[in-house]
Amino acid sequence: MNETVIGFGQDDAAWICGGCGEKLAPGPATLEYMGSEFCVTLMRCPACGLTLISEELALGRMLRVERLLEDK
Ligand SMILES: [Zn+2]
Repeated sequence: MNETVIGFGQDDAAWICGGCGEKLAPGPATLEYMGSEFCVTLMRCPACGLTLISEELALGRMLRVERLLEDK
């Protein structure tokens, strides 16, 4: 069983931090992948700084990033 960190609200715009109950807000974040850094906008908790990377987002971004790297 995976530990659930993020609780889902009634819609996608209402992500709640499981740790402190704060509503997540979009903000800039840096992803590191294969030795390169990528600036993306992710949902973050303003209280504890937890950054949400949903599986779908991570996979989508990573696939796109991977393609960018391969195209070089
Ligand atoms: Zn938090």
